[in-house]
Amino acid sequence: MYQWTEFKKELEELKEKGLYTNIRTLEGPQGAWLKINGKDVLNMSSNNYLGLANDKDMVEKSIDAIKHWGVGPGAVRTIAGTMSLHTQLERDLAEFKNVEATIMIQSGFLANQAVVPAVMGKEDAILSDELNHASIIDAVRLTKSKRYVWKHKDVADLDVKLKEADRDGAVKKLVITDGVFSMDGDLAPLPEIVEVCKKYNAILMVDDAHGEGVLGSHGRGIVDHFGLHDQVDIEVGTLSKAFGVIGGFVAGKKVLIDYLKQKARPFLFSSSLSPADTMAAIESVRKLKASDELVKKLWENGNYFKKEMKALGFDTGESETPITPVMLYEAPVASTFSQKLLEKGVFAQSIGFPTVPKGKARIRVMISAAHSKKDLDFGIKAFEEVGKELKVISNAADSPDLQR
Ligand SMILES: *Cc1c(COP(=O)(O)O)cnc(C)c1O
Repeated sequence: MYQWTEFKKELEELKEKGLYTNIRTLEGPQGAWLKINGKDVLNMSSNNYLGLANDKDMVEKSIDAIKHWGVGPGAVRTIAGTMSLHTQLERDLAEFKNVEATIMIQSGFLANQAVVPAVMGKEDAILSDELNHASIIDAVRLTKSKRYVWKHKDVADLDVKLKEADRDGAVKKLVITDGVFSMDGDLAPLPEIVEVCKKYNAILMVDDAHGEGVLGSHGRGIVDHFGLHDQVDIEVGTLSKAFGVIGGFVAGKKVLIDYLKQKARPFLFSSSLSPADTMAAIESVRKLKASDELVKKLWENGNYFKKEMKALGFDTGESETPITPVMLYEAPVASTFSQKLLEKGVFAQSIGFPTVPKGKARIRVMISAAHSKKDLDFGIKAFEEVGKELKVISNAADSPDLQR
């Protein structure tokens, strides 16, 4: 048997550097509070933006779907795995997103693997923001296209790279950006990117995993937020964040979706979403269409949390969304901070390299519509106490002769 010696050594090194991820196990459902190690802790780590992951109506619909359709899809979509549930979800999402058509894929990660290699060949050029999500990076690796990486959100640099791609003789050019950058919570400058793509006749693709259910009217996403309908060629989305379920999709013109149904490898070679997941997603989209109350609550909560944390002296980065990074820079500080928060009943995971660049470690606080104001105050107090103990924020505010 192989001894895996070098792997053991690497794991030890990760632990020494504070980069080893301690995977927590939840002993109950997703929600504002989680049970971890037998203890109830405030959840400030999950992508359950709207609190839909354990929504009663969605649970009921899922149970009905299982009773009616069974538990497994039985096949890949192109052979015997397309149920009318799948096509209904695709139509509902297309209507919600104001696009001609959508295609369901098993996850957001796979949606990127589905679309990028299907549309781009070796004579083409792909231009990617340097902070794009790992699933985009891997999707690009599956192509033989020439790669160009542009500086984060720097449209002037994108312009330079597009010019370079033209000079290098690219046939098609695909510009890819995250809509919301998940580690900082900042937005892609989409209106400017649209303009530069027009100038060079480039295809524009946005992965809006953290924008779906968060940005735009009723959570229709970043394209709706900026009013850019019909100006973005490919939208990739996930059903596993704000929508509260699991799954991914690609949205765009009917010709693109028809093409992906013939060519996208995760669609052709991996089984479709289960009936329970699909039905839960249908209900999730219905709820979002019907009311924007949860989206509004999410933003109120995010704004409140950020304001209070800034007042305490925390560095919350450049976020423009409810995602709130609490910048600590050094990985061991972030990891200790997270551990101490957990001791105080707050679950907020630290994030280090390679998920964020070296020296940019942080605790990424994920705010949810499921949080009450009391929950947020509980979290803020724990951050204040640990921040002072670790001297991340000053104790000056406690001094009697200083006004707060
Ligand atoms: C989370 C995320 C994904 C992956 O989505 P899943 O549905 O969890 O696979 C893809 N792209 C971006 C930008 C993400 O943030």
